Amino acid sequence: MSESYDVVVVGGGLVGLSTALLLDAAVSQRLRIAIVEARPPALPSSGSLPDMSLRVSALSPASVTILESLGVWPTVVAQRVSPYSGMYVWHSSTPGSFDHVLEFSAAELGTRELGFIVENDLLRNALWKKALAAPAIDILPPASPQSISISEDGAELLLSDASAVSARLLVAADGANSHLRELLNVHVEGGAYSQRGIVANIITERPHQGIAYQRFLATGPVALLPLKDGRCSLVWSCADALADELLALDDTAFSIRLTEATEAVLGDLQCATPRMAFPLAYAHADSYSGLRFALVGDAAHRVHPLAGQGVNLGFLDAAALAETLAINMPAQYADPGDPLILRRYARWRRRDNELTLSMMNLLHRVFAGNPSAADGRLAKIGGEGLALVNAIEPAKRAFAEHALGRAGDLPKVAKCQ
Ligand SMILES: Cc1cc2nc3c(=O)[nH]c(=O)nc-3n(C[C@H](O)[C@H](O)[C@H](O)COP(=O)(O)OP(=O)(O)OC[C@H]3O[C@@H](n4cnc5c(N)ncnc54)[C@H](O)[C@@H]3O)c2cc1C
Repeated sequence: MSESYDVVVVGGGLVGLSTALLLDAAVSQRLRIAIVEARPPALPSSGSLPDMSLRVSALSPASVTILESLGVWPTVVAQRVSPYSGMYVWHSSTPGSFDHVLEFSAAELGTRELGFIVENDLLRNALWKKALAAPAIDILPPASPQSISISEDGAELLLSDASAVSARLLVAADGANSHLRELLNVHVEGGAYSQRGIVANIITERPHQGIAYQRFLATGPVALLPLKDGRCSLVWSCADALADELLALDDTAFSIRLTEATEAVLGDLQCATPRMAFPLAYAHADSYSGLRFALVGDAAHRVHPLAGQGVNLGFLDAAALAETLAINMPAQYADPGDPLILRRYARWRRRDNELTLSMMNLLHRVFAGNPSAADGRLAKIGGEGLALVNAIEPAKRAFAEHALGRAGDLPKVAKCQ
């Protein structure tokens, strides 16, 4: 006998939790929702703030507006977030020349900040607690889906703890390697970049002053994101072989390489933590919906971190799904798994995300392919393009609007007040 719900969300990461909470809010707590998560967070005892973690995300103001609507943002702000009000992106075809720069500030865009650097764990813990407290949401004991059966009337999941759960709508939010997506036979277009993103926290000689820096190197982008405690979070994307080499260096040698790679834009840098590395890939699901299911977040799309868009797109998916259901199923007993309604969500978000994914792939190709002669020429053109965008006001604004998460067809809850 399986427990039945209106919606079962598989994956209790940032996007899955937001999806459950946004659905709950948008459909006025009329849906019974369950979350299936294999690895729940270890919540710290109340009042204690964990050490700063290495995984951070640059959140756009649009994402923050969504999190504010859920009442989660003030909890995170009370703990640790770092607003940033400037962005400095450069590409040096001639090292040391700082000749190709794209630079923008919150002030010139009429906003207080361009975004916020947030620790993934702090945000996830806040979302998790919110979901735990929501009467219409059940977080099930840790498990993962083993098998699935789907019919016109509903879906049933057999879970790894031998329990079963049924739903009128299944949401796959179980990340880039989504097992649920596989069980649903959804095809994914994509491939590896053959790069890894090295992350660490870095002590800088000069203060970051709330500015995010990114330099495009022939081998990939290196970014320094400002942290609340004065350090910077590093995301250094590079080919696998270079990543192996950099990871094998001791802290001093790594710090010297990093200072060189960033052209000492913040002076001498010192790696202050262990380094972690994540494989980078792109992927796009052929469809975001089907019989009794929808895909959100990295289960639907995976992008290069060079523009810090991944989770921001996921929050927009979550908000768009909630808005689509709220608009199209006003009646008490309407069906959240209605394929026509789900198709509206799928068309909306796939079209918007396709644009971002293509842009990321182009930027990757232009700035961070392999350093062959042809790509070197391409990179030079890219560098000049960066300077050109900086010089042409409407182009620069369009670029910035994208970074702020204000481009495209935004769900209402994401529109910044
Ligand atoms: C180096 C790096 C830097 C990045 N920086 C940024 C940034 O600055 N800004 C930004 O917007 N994005 C950034 N991203 C991307 C961002 O991290 C992802 O887009 C985001 O984490 C996706 O969230 P998600 O909830 O969809 O998936 P995930 O975070 O992968 O969450 C999936 C959840 O599902 C659970 N799960 C997985 N499989 C199962 C299963 N079989 N059964 C049950 N549960 C399961 C997992 O335990 C997890 O909790 C970065 C990525 C990398 C690699």
